[in-house]
Amino acid sequence: MKSEQRFQGVAVSPGIVRGLAYIYRPDEELPPRRSIKEADADGEIARLHDALGNTRRQIIELHDKVKASLGASDAEIFEAHLMVVEDGVLIEEVQKTIRRDLCNAEHAFQIVAQRYAKSLAALEDPYFRERAADIHDIARRITRNLLGKTTTTLADIKSPHIVLAHNLSPSDTAQIDRNIVLGFCTEVGGKTSHTAIMARSLNIPAIVGLHQILAVENGADILIDGYSGLLIVHPTDATLFQYGELQHSKAKVEQQLNELRETDSTTRDGTHIILSANIEQPGDIAQAAASGAQGVGLFRTEFLYLSGTTLPTEEEQFAAYCQVAAAARPHAVIIRTLDLGGDKLHATLHPVAEENPFLGWRAIRVCLERTDIFKTQLRAILRASTCGSIKLMFPMISGIAELRTAKRILEECRAELREEKIPFDEKMEVGIMIEVPSAAIIADLLAKEVDFFSLGTNDLVQYTIAADRGNEHIAHLYEPTHPAVLRLIKMTVSAAHAADIWVGVCGEMGGDITLTPLLIGLGIDEISCGSAVLPRVKRAVRSLDAAACRRLAADALDCDSGSTILARSEAVARAHYGELF
Ligand code: PEP
Ligand code: MG
Repeated sequence: MKSEQRFQGVAVSPGIVRGLAYIYRPDEELPPRRSIKEADADGEIARLHDALGNTRRQIIELHDKVKASLGASDAEIFEAHLMVVEDGVLIEEVQKTIRRDLCNAEHAFQIVAQRYAKSLAALEDPYFRERAADIHDIARRITRNLLGKTTTTLADIKSPHIVLAHNLSPSDTAQIDRNIVLGFCTEVGGKTSHTAIMARSLNIPAIVGLHQILAVENGADILIDGYSGLLIVHPTDATLFQYGELQHSKAKVEQQLNELRETDSTTRDGTHIILSANIEQPGDIAQAAASGAQGVGLFRTEFLYLSGTTLPTEEEQFAAYCQVAAAARPHAVIIRTLDLGGDKLHATLHPVAEENPFLGWRAIRVCLERTDIFKTQLRAILRASTCGSIKLMFPMISGIAELRTAKRILEECRAELREEKIPFDEKMEVGIMIEVPSAAIIADLLAKEVDFFSLGTNDLVQYTIAADRGNEHIAHLYEPTHPAVLRLIKMTVSAAHAADIWVGVCGEMGGDITLTPLLIGLGIDEISCGSAVLPRVKRAVRSLDAAACRRLAADALDCDSGSTILARSEAVARAHYGELF
């Protein structure tokens, strides 16, 4: 009988699940350097050529498979990979490095490949930048062949498990099949990292910020409590009994929440709050509708880009947006244009790591430079606006010039479609996310140019406090109720209302029922949150008095401490819907 072990982390997605542990270790980036003797250099070079030969065979196999199933254009990427494997200059360089530095082949290959990729990525021409991504991909494959390893991805897990990993990238989570991955735990990450957001959207329990969990044995019997952030390895009978009871009482509350589906999200004193859902994939719309959402307040379109190796075409995007718009009728869908960068890196667009990705080439900044990608998406969104009611929203706007350029490019797309006689909704509303402090501060200027604002509090909090949203070490500083954040929200709401436009919250603050009293008090018109938490938010809205919430917010704006503001909002929340905690 093994003894029970407990690990405490940060709960990011609620639920309780028991299952077998799957320790997920995606490939290490840089293989360790091993010194070799001069006499062994020929042997290392022979190993290199064996690995190149194996890699070549694998690529040809993959190419043929993809060509047969998806067509020649999807298979093209492998032709580019073959060119890397057959690049005489690169191979010569690796051989030289082995002889000169007297190091192992995998290390030499990685060093040379990284140097190549870096210089390609620095070039203006997008074609060469894409080649940099190919070099990274291929370098990983060759390294695995040198090390005699096979590729592992989450898609390789064949039976239901709970995944334990150091980290999961958004492209890892984009591959999760919720019938197979019952829940996950990671060593790094924060509550508003995209991995955590994805877990909530998949409605699977998840915990982040758990230390030393990779020492748990593969296949161990584990239980995760996504309410309190507890991972329990080898739970005892007493623990299992206790969790059985907890699950039972949670199920009862869920049942009562389900009954709210058809009701209105209006406070007791008659203030209507539009309650809409955040979705990450077109397929999420069914769950959004089932949760009783009044449409979609944020469709994060990045996941269309992260789940494949090539960028989605206009037709593919049109199909996805049209499907969502049609399913959401009569309600609206707010489609956010591409927000890649930060912690959502695309192999092609971000082949080389940036020093400060969250302050770097992200979201609208990528789109304004890669207008080819941007226009493809804008055309698809415009065309889909005839399938239902669509609004469009630009992320990460930091100033007026950026917004005007984005609107000009949108206008170009409209003109093209008119010319091509392709119908679209001429009156489609255009809004922006307020998630950069500079945008909140000039909200009065921005409000004149758009139809609505949506506060992206996940980023607004991180940028205001300079606390990385995905870094568990500074999670205590990441405070949504920080007085500075509250003031920025208030400024945004006042500017919006003065210009007669509405303002919503689509960051994770919207789904946190502890903060619902504060948001209503600050004058928020719309809350968009994950479908899984939406019925709870509706119950919260229906239990509260807007007038009392306004008094709470006025006091909060006078208060100097984030933790006191949080405690006051929580006290109001617990007094009105304590059973939800
Ligand atoms: C936000 O920043 O609050 C937001 C909704 O956008 P994302 O989480 O995708 O950055
Ligand atoms: Mg954001």
